[in-house]
Amino acid sequence: MELTTHNLGYPRIGPNRELKRAVESYWKGDLALDALLQTASDLRRQAWTRQKAAGMHWLPTGDFSLYDHVLDTAALLGAVPPRFGPPGDNVSVDQLFAMARGLLEREHGRGSQGIAPMEMTKWFDTNYHYIVPELKAGQTFRLSSRKPFDEFLEARQLGFPAKPVLLGPISFLRLSKMEGNGDAAALLPALLPVYREILQRFGQIGCEWIQIDEPALVLDLPPSFQAALTVAYGELRAAVPGLRILLATYFGPLRDNLEPVFSLPVDAVHWDATRGGSELEHVLSAIPRNMILSLGIVDGRNVWRNRFSESLLVIERALAVLGRDRLWLAPSCSLLHVPVSLEGEKRLDPELRSWLAFADEKLHEVRLLARLAVGDPASRPALEENRRIQECRRASSRVHDPEVARRAAAVRPLDLQRKSPYPVRRKAQRSLHPLPLLPTTTIGSFPQTPEVRKARARWRAGGLTTAEYESFLEGEIRKVVALQEEIGLDVLVHGEFERNDMVEYFGEQLAGFAFTENGWVQSYGSRCTKPPIIFGDVSRPKPMTVRWSRFAQSLTQKPMKGMLTGPITILQWSFVRDDQPRSTTARQIALAIRDEVADLEKAGISIIQIDEPALREGLPLRRADWPDYLTWAVEAFRLSASVVDDATAIHTHMCYSEFNDIIDAIAALDADVISIEASRSGMELLHAFVHFRYPNEIGPGVWDIHSPRIPSVEEIVTALRRALAVLPATALWVNPDCGLKTRSPAEVVPSLRHMVAAARLLRKELAGKDEAGA
Ligand code: GLN
Ligand code: ZN
Repeated sequence: MELTTHNLGYPRIGPNRELKRAVESYWKGDLALDALLQTASDLRRQAWTRQKAAGMHWLPTGDFSLYDHVLDTAALLGAVPPRFGPPGDNVSVDQLFAMARGLLEREHGRGSQGIAPMEMTKWFDTNYHYIVPELKAGQTFRLSSRKPFDEFLEARQLGFPAKPVLLGPISFLRLSKMEGNGDAAALLPALLPVYREILQRFGQIGCEWIQIDEPALVLDLPPSFQAALTVAYGELRAAVPGLRILLATYFGPLRDNLEPVFSLPVDAVHWDATRGGSELEHVLSAIPRNMILSLGIVDGRNVWRNRFSESLLVIERALAVLGRDRLWLAPSCSLLHVPVSLEGEKRLDPELRSWLAFADEKLHEVRLLARLAVGDPASRPALEENRRIQECRRASSRVHDPEVARRAAAVRPLDLQRKSPYPVRRKAQRSLHPLPLLPTTTIGSFPQTPEVRKARARWRAGGLTTAEYESFLEGEIRKVVALQEEIGLDVLVHGEFERNDMVEYFGEQLAGFAFTENGWVQSYGSRCTKPPIIFGDVSRPKPMTVRWSRFAQSLTQKPMKGMLTGPITILQWSFVRDDQPRSTTARQIALAIRDEVADLEKAGISIIQIDEPALREGLPLRRADWPDYLTWAVEAFRLSASVVDDATAIHTHMCYSEFNDIIDAIAALDADVISIEASRSGMELLHAFVHFRYPNEIGPGVWDIHSPRIPSVEEIVTALRRALAVLPATALWVNPDCGLKTRSPAEVVPSLRHMVAAARLLRKELAGKDEAGA
């Protein structure tokens, strides 16, 4: 008999993003609620059918969501913020969407301000974003949704072996935001009765196994949470002695949480062998004699085919200790983070395609491993095939470029260093371009108007020739340069009209990247992304942006900033190869960007911005792993930037304001100027500078470009005054929070005028002070 197999969660979006379409039509009012719910139910049936066909013994239910599973959990537990109305016994679909998206004034009633949505943040270190539950001291909970039970019964009625999935109490509390920064663990006593009730109901409707997800166990947990873990599972066990509990952990090794997890009174523990691999022996010695181990053996986070021979070593070792009855196999985590199936990939190169596995293919791999593990002779050919494919990939000349390897190995410490220290560079840069105090600039993109998108779509479809498309883009650049001159900005940009995405644009021009036709994954709600796949050594065959920057510079006497995406952001927003460390891939991308930087400089561009909005989100889940990451990430940035002369200014840009944690690393980038999001947090990042003297120049964003609001001159002046209180005037730049591509010209033009006016006003004031002092 083969090993028991199961799946932890399946993509919700549908093989062709059916959910996205249905949900968005519903929001627009083009689709009735019944029809939306019917689509959702069809998608669930289809998902279970596929998982069953792949041979899974237990299928997840309740993993489906119209928007987000953490939002669903908050609704289930009655944690609905009061501004959305009371939850009742079954939170409605509209209430759920209002929590996720907020309500406009128009929808909420005349004269009202509308209702702000709940916050959203990254789900662990994935590119999926969840809705952050809002809790407060004294929070009460009550069972407020039938969804988990309905979906379990739906699956069972269709004849599927259903195993409900529930986000566990420890992770729910840990992922929530407490009003006033209180300790969410203190809410456990109020929360547990609802979990108990949920489990009891599942017991009553004949559920055999329940999967309770506790990914928070791979994080650094404060002592209050460690204590809560033991209490929670002790109580739940006592409440439902008959129901079998599978506790699922994933996304990393357990470390200090390993012993506590395996001491819990649960029937099975799911453990991520792809990321926690080095803990195997510890797991096998810690697991109690009656507990089942679910081995997360196929990586649910990447798109690569499993290496069977390596996996079998792990499985065989576990089998030797546990025996067939106590070992289950599964993907490492929910398959939410990978595309549905390779079926849709008709144009992908066949060799590359043979190296890949999306959700459906991964489930087939789990099943094959379950057979191979017990020596099923019928599965031998699959093992041979897998070996052959891995051998091809290992030896492929499309993956390995000796020139890239040689260059990466030859990087010396001097390559990571600008020629002179910042004060010397500053002098050279200012003598090349004398800039006023508080220079004004933007982050790069200007509005991607419907005309720009239409032109790109037509060109891609062959309706415009490349020459026609390029001359259209030149026209746009002409207009935007003239506009910036008229407004009076000091450092101009070309507007980024040639790119619709800051990673895709570069990936398409770099060697080592591939693009799928249909490899969509959910980013948040109805938003999906199609990340590039980095499959091989990365290099830059020819210049990528030089032509646009050179053209833009030719139109003006003012300095034109060249615009590049940095190596860490390209890495973070792609599927990354699994056959070498991420740091190695980062270095290769850095070398490719370095080539572009050098060519921009040669073309007469003397200010070059290398965007790294994803630097912070690349931080590992555990603090102990931060220094290593920050070291190679900073090195990659410096490698990409350090090729230029002193007089060429390197700028960088980041889109977050939580800055304190990594300020040393940010300073170590040694960019001449950094622009960073700051306005929404009320310039919170400036706190960092009270203790830390930021050595170079900095532009804290003074205009929240995520909102359609046009900031007034006074507002901008106030923000700049706050900055001037902690930073010297000579170090301060004036810019928006981020690029302007999602804003309309009607918002952009007045906002930029106000920004320039605010800078001029303060310049005068500062000059006055100077004279008074002299
Ligand atoms: N230069 C990019 C832009 O202006 C930066 C985008 C980002 O930071 N996400 O759009
Ligand atoms: Zn940004």
